[in-house]
Amino acid sequence: MIELPEAIVIAQQITETLSGKRIARAVANTSPHKFAWYTGDPAEYNDRLAGKVIGEGIGVAGNIEFKAGDMILAISAPIRYHTQGEKRPKKHQLLLEFEDETAISSSAQMWGGFFCFPAGEKGGFPDYDIAKTRPSPLTDTFDRTYFNTLFDDNTPDLSAKAFLATEQRIPGLGNGVLQDILWTARIHPKRKMSELSEQEIDAMYDAVKHVLATMTAQGGRDTERDLFGHPGGYKTILSKYTVGTSCPACSTTIEKKSYLGGSIYYCMRCQKL
Ligand SMILES: [Zn+2]
Repeated sequence: MIELPEAIVIAQQITETLSGKRIARAVANTSPHKFAWYTGDPAEYNDRLAGKVIGEGIGVAGNIEFKAGDMILAISAPIRYHTQGEKRPKKHQLLLEFEDETAISSSAQMWGGFFCFPAGEKGGFPDYDIAKTRPSPLTDTFDRTYFNTLFDDNTPDLSAKAFLATEQRIPGLGNGVLQDILWTARIHPKRKMSELSEQEIDAMYDAVKHVLATMTAQGGRDTERDLFGHPGGYKTILSKYTVGTSCPACSTTIEKKSYLGGSIYYCMRCQKL
């Protein structure tokens, strides 16, 4: 699965590198994966895609979406580019070979969607279709007034992590980007929303806008890889790379714990419980 900054970065690279390439053949589901989803029968992907020309890519929440002729591909797993003659990975859930003998492949991590449907139609997958209807936090439509509409009767009981990174409330904001957002806002991931002051909610909103924009502008996070297999330029403050090192704000050791189906990282001093 991927998150918003990397979806946008890879979609831009697809526009720059792949647009105009014609698909020679498409191979889907050769390495069956329990949590890989397709539109209909993956055996039909070659019929749907062969001969189609790649168009522009866009990042939609945690999906890389791009045109292939009259079809749309929406992929929520990392995509890797392969040059002429370069070895293709043995296992993958989708491989597109182009007429110029370059290719792209995509492999599900924990899970992944590899949707392929006619342009103008819905993807047919609830999470993806919902994500399409909600404003991206990188746009002006996602302003403080809109952020306030995300609060409802259930919000006070939620933790900060549950509020920001579950239920597709903010599509593309997952457990990865969450860590630096909450550190920037100085909020512990387990804090109850009902305990947050008005200033802390302000800081949370500002961090959502600012941190996601910075991660995207810097080419995604250093923990993730782009279309060419290169790590992103954004240096994560809280991640697998920094756990056990000193917090850049106060020098307290950065900690890691499991919480709500994923690892959380935090500084106990900057993000008090
Ligand atoms: Zn700190």
